[in-house]
This record gives sequence, C-alpha cells and structure tokens, in this order.
Amino acid sequence: MQKYEKLEKVGEGTYGTVFKAKHKETKEIVALKRVRLDDEDEGVPSSALREICLLKELKHKNIVRLYDVLHSDRRLTMVFEFCDQDLKKYFDSCKGKVDSNTVKSFMFHLLQGLQFCHSHNVLHRDLKPQNLLISKSGELKLADFGLARAFGLPKERFSAEVVTLWYRPPDVLMGAKMYDTSIDMWSAGCIFAEMANGGRPLLPGSDVDDQLRRIFKLLGTPNELTWPDMKKMPEYRDFPAFSAIPLASVTPTLSSSGRELLQNLLVCAPSRRMCAEKAMQHCYFDDIDPSIRV
Ligand code: ADP
Ligand code: MG
Repeated sequence: MQKYEKLEKVGEGTYGTVFKAKHKETKEIVALKRVRLDDEDEGVPSSALREICLLKELKHKNIVRLYDVLHSDRRLTMVFEFCDQDLKKYFDSCKGKVDSNTVKSFMFHLLQGLQFCHSHNVLHRDLKPQNLLISKSGELKLADFGLARAFGLPKERFSAEVVTLWYRPPDVLMGAKMYDTSIDMWSAGCIFAEMANGGRPLLPGSDVDDQLRRIFKLLGTPNELTWPDMKKMPEYRDFPAFSAIPLASVTPTLSSSGRELLQNLLVCAPSRRMCAEKAMQHCYFDDIDPSIRV
C-alpha cells in the first residue's frame, strides 16, 4: 500500500470504495478499490482471493485491467487501470442524446469485452452503466468482471445502497441458480437501448415484480412455445398474457438493423438469447470504422 499515494475518492459502490491513486515511483495513475467484507473478523475468504487473483490474467483492451491484488490486515485492495469516467456520468454530460456512431462503437466495445471474458469462462453478472468505464481515448472498458462470483451477486448487502434490477434477465429475476453467459447478454441489450435513448433506462423497475412486469409488457409474456422452461424457474409466478410492443416505439432513433440486434438480445428464454460472438457479426456493425475492431 505504501507504493501508492492516495488522491481523491472517485466512487462508492457495491463492493467497496474507489480511490484515484498515484504510484510513488512510476507516477502511474491507478484506481484502488478497497473491498468491504461481510465479516471483517473472518478476513478475506481464500476462495474469493483465488478467484480475484485469476482475474489478473484477463487482459483485453475492453476490460479494465486488474494490475494487482494487495492483501494485508485481513483487507483486500485491488489495483485497477484508471479510467476517466463511467457510462452513467457520460450520459449525464451529453444531455439526453448520444451520437449514433458513438452508440455503435460503444456497443461493439462492450460485445468485444464480453466475448473475451465469456470465452475464458468468466461472467460479469452485474453489468450496468456504472460498470462501463470510458478511457481518455473514448474506448469503453468493462469493470468488475468476475467480482460477483468471488463475492456473491450484489444483494442488499450494505443498507446504504440500492441494488439495481434494471439490467437483470427474467430467468434471474425468477430465481434461476444456474448462471451462464446469457445473463450478461440481456444486460448488454438493456444498455444498448439505454445508449440509443441518450441515457434513459429501458426497464427501470422498482422491485422484482415490477421489473418482470415491465419486461413482459415490452416483449410479451413468454408462453410454452417461446420459453418452455419458464414454469420450472424456482420463483416462477403467473403474469397476465401481455402482448409485445414493437421495439421501434421504445427506441425510435435506433436503425432497423440495430433494433433487430436488440430484439435478439432481449429474449426471455436464456438459451435463445444471442451470444456476444454472434452479436458482433450482426449486420448492424457492417459499416463500423475498421479501427474499432481489434
Ligand atoms: P459499482 O458497485 O457501482 O460498480 P464501484 O465500486 O465499481 O461501484 O465503483 C464506484 C464508482 O467508481 C464507479 O461508478 C466509477 O465511476 C468509479 N470507478 C470504478 N472503477 C474505476 C476505475 N478503474 N477508474 C476510474 N473510476 C472508477
Ligand atoms: Mg463497478
């Protein structure tokens, strides 16, 4: 810890407090995330420590780099690449309108980062605009990859924060215990629509029931044909049979190919949701600037 000079606090989140800091010798600017533990007396669980250390190997331009993990006095500090802002702050700064080329390149970066992590069997499970950071050069990077697995999916662990349900897929809202990469693809869809709408969240539910209701009102309530396993979900419950609303009415500025991609991500049945690799090949990206691809 003495290697770093702490500068200002940049944020407070689900797992801890984030500080900007400077390496005393190299002068490199980093983000230090000090993790709060459920049980301070127990120290850092060795399983969590092992998970976190593996994340140091996850190196990709669209993933916020984890440089180091410092473990002392039963506390855990993660040393991350520093990014200038997050997508939520970016939305706040652009007054309700994100340029359509920016939406496309951010979405491509998001999918590239997801594809990379998913191919290494690492899930995010808590994607939201606050976890998408933007570098000085305008690259989008995914933060907090793999933390949910190490520390558990954010629930109301600490009374001060409200955990957002807005980016959670219906299977998880219905208590699915088997997580796979499809969880992140749903979140990516929600974020895509939010970017296209200049930062207005697509499905801002207030609790689990309201979240599911909003999803089904938009996409139509699933049935035996569209989601055969729905009734097997641990917390399945009946909803009225809403019929789908055209996505054009909720994302009016998105091109028709963009809407088609969105439709493929916002699929209630997890096994039918499009994966990152397929999404990157979608024709929506046909006219993307070649420099944005790796
Ligand atoms: P959350 O649980 O909302 O993801 P975090 O603890 O990850 O919260 O971070 C809180 C805030 O700190 C983020 O919204 C972001 O603005 C900022 N932050 C997190 N990581 C970094 C980083 N690597 N570089 C710069 N800012 C960061
Ligand atoms: Mg975060």
